[in-house]
Amino acid sequence: MAQPRPPSKTWRFSTSIFAPVIVSLVATAIGVVAFVLWSTANIDQRSLQRETQSVEYAIGEILAGVPREQESVTVWDDAIIQTKFGFNQNWVHVNLGLWMHDFFGHDRTFVLDPSNTPVYAMDGGKLADTELFTADAAAFEPLIAELRGKIAAGLLDNYNAGTAVELAHAVDVTTVSGHPAIVSIAPIISDSSDIFQVQGTEFLHISVVFLNQAFAQKLARTYHFEASGFSTNQPSDGAQAVYPILSKSGRFVTFFEWRQDRPGARMLSQTAPVLAGAFLVAGVLVFLLLDQLWRSTQALETGHRRAQHQATHDSLTGLPNRTLFEDRLDEVLAERTAGERTAVMMLDLDRFKQVNDTLGHAAGDELIRAAAERLRQLLPPEDTIARLGGDEFGVIHPLIGPEGDAMVLAGRLVAALARPFEISVSETHIGGSIGVVIFDSTSTRGTVARNADIALYEAKSAGRNRAVLFEERMNEVLQLRRTIEMELREALRRPGQITVQFQPLYNACGKSIIGAEALARWEHPKFGSISPAKFIPVAESSGLIENLGEYVLRRACELGARWPDRTIAVNISPVQLRNPGFSRLLFDILKQTGMLPSCLELEITENILIDDESQISDTLRTFRAAGIRIALDDFGTGYSSLNYLKRYAVDRIKVDRSFVQQLPDDAVSYAIVQAMVMLAKAMGISVTAEGVELESQRRVLEKLGCDVLQGFLFSPAIVEFKLEALFRGDNVDHYQQIQPRLSA
Ligand code: C2E
Ligand code: CA
Ligand code: CA
Repeated sequence: MAQPRPPSKTWRFSTSIFAPVIVSLVATAIGVVAFVLWSTANIDQRSLQRETQSVEYAIGEILAGVPREQESVTVWDDAIIQTKFGFNQNWVHVNLGLWMHDFFGHDRTFVLDPSNTPVYAMDGGKLADTELFTADAAAFEPLIAELRGKIAAGLLDNYNAGTAVELAHAVDVTTVSGHPAIVSIAPIISDSSDIFQVQGTEFLHISVVFLNQAFAQKLARTYHFEASGFSTNQPSDGAQAVYPILSKSGRFVTFFEWRQDRPGARMLSQTAPVLAGAFLVAGVLVFLLLDQLWRSTQALETGHRRAQHQATHDSLTGLPNRTLFEDRLDEVLAERTAGERTAVMMLDLDRFKQVNDTLGHAAGDELIRAAAERLRQLLPPEDTIARLGGDEFGVIHPLIGPEGDAMVLAGRLVAALARPFEISVSETHIGGSIGVVIFDSTSTRGTVARNADIALYEAKSAGRNRAVLFEERMNEVLQLRRTIEMELREALRRPGQITVQFQPLYNACGKSIIGAEALARWEHPKFGSISPAKFIPVAESSGLIENLGEYVLRRACELGARWPDRTIAVNISPVQLRNPGFSRLLFDILKQTGMLPSCLELEITENILIDDESQISDTLRTFRAAGIRIALDDFGTGYSSLNYLKRYAVDRIKVDRSFVQQLPDDAVSYAIVQAMVMLAKAMGISVTAEGVELESQRRVLEKLGCDVLQGFLFSPAIVEFKLEALFRGDNVDHYQQIQPRLSA
């Protein structure tokens, strides 16, 4: 019955809830982080672009600014006069050199005469040797050539005409004395146009501004760069941005470097802790949520399991209930392979109802629990034991060994139940009956259960406290009982099939008829006559005996009313006697038919007296008080206890025909009958002997002292009108007619 185990609850929870939630949480986190990183990088990139543009612009501005500053001294009549017309070293130093240094921060100044020979040099605010120019001449020469070229091309013509917009100068970035520097060269010209110079004879003014740290700081102040400077090497610090400054001819001169502004990174550094915090909080929330979910899932599952257990188990014993039992049986039937056999046992506690009624329900419950526990302990763990109802249990037992093993086990269960139970109120004896069925691959649940029930029924009718193995024969018997029941029901509904015949009762000498016993007869249109020995038990177990009994009683009383000096005996079933309405029915019938109660004799079996039911003894007392006589039928076959005779005070015993038929030769039967008659006489009880077939039997019975005789010797049961003929006086005839035949 091994089944693949369903995936565990934890596993299902992890795969269906936990994993997806965590995965999406992590994915979201990764997405957000990636987006933030991407956008901050993007912002930083744009910021760098903007800064680079600013640097470009600033460099341009500086390159444009240096000539403009120069212009403040080179476009000046006085400057021409102080250079060209008598070179005044002192004036030139103050106005063309120091001025540029002090006021604009230019580092070096040179003045060249028209032949491009340096006539003045200033370095760092001090008068310097013109050799300083010669040392870097190579750096200046291209610019000088450019400017002289421009002037030769007539640049100053426009200027002299007062229409020039472009300043006459040449500017570039280059290397001076090994340092990057801006070099700007301008001609010294008139501001008033009053002084005329022949083109090409102008003095030239050269300004050198080193791209050094001081300059870089000035730049930084003006354009808001941080930690800026010039360097010919790429900075190793990744935080520094660089802009290569090239000469006009495209030659690399230096890098301008500055601390790159990273607004993205800044934003990231500000938002990262917030983001991390947010993720942490979200993570904690999700965790709490998952935890809550897990708990409620667990609670739900526990509830579900509990509900399922309640639906499939009996609350009193904790054993599986009928539903689960049937499910398991279905499973066994479905999974069984050919040749594999299983035993199913239906078990019923004997006398449980009595315990329940007399000791109370609490004791009953306790007893059921104790019995269940006893049974459970005897069964191997792979067996299923279920409580199917009140005091009914079912067992599914897989058979490994021979069939006999199942019966051995069943026998053990019976023995266990037969041992007394110590329950809180008292020690109790019950017992159990078991029906066992062994089945293989061909059966269905319905047949298995039915056959087990049939075997159980057999066990009970065989006297309880035993285990019975189902045999096909039992099914046939049951089938027959069912058919009989169906047919009997039908027969009782329509008149004709069921009749009543009467068997005459004679006095001891066999000479006079004193009455008759009413016996039911069934003439079935198809099956012919059916013996009461067959249909009476069926009528009793199906309840049909009530109808049948009433019918017989009515017919008997109708006859008895016409013969007030004769006794009419009627057989009464225990089922009828237990019905509280029976005495009323009987008295009604007596009244309706007009029969005298003293003429009626009720035949009951002694077994009914054992149960000591107060209902029955009350009823019997009432009948006797009314003058109705009570006879104990089939005396000697049951639990014949003289005690009952005393307690119930019956009027007559009917010695069973099994004893009579052994007469006269069997000494034991003789002794028994003799003892019975003697005891009855001693107690003032009359004795009938039934089943008298032989004259020799009659003689013995007469001698022993039996009052009344009944049997085929005198007459079988006959139809009413024949009996009435005997009553009328042909009785002697009848006996004497058959007498010679029997004796012969
Ligand atoms: P019982 O009450 O012992 O009835 C006597 C039975 O013995 C009758 O069988 C009768 O035919 C048979 N019998 C009579 N004399 C002789 C004889 O000399 N030799 C032999 N071998 N048998 C003899 P029957 O009619 O087949 O009835 C069988 C049983 O059915 C009765 O046994 C009685 O217990 C029951 N029964 C019959 N009719 C009724 C009825 O109306 N109500 C109830 N409750 N039971 C009935
Ligand atoms: Ca009888
Ligand atoms: Ca009898």
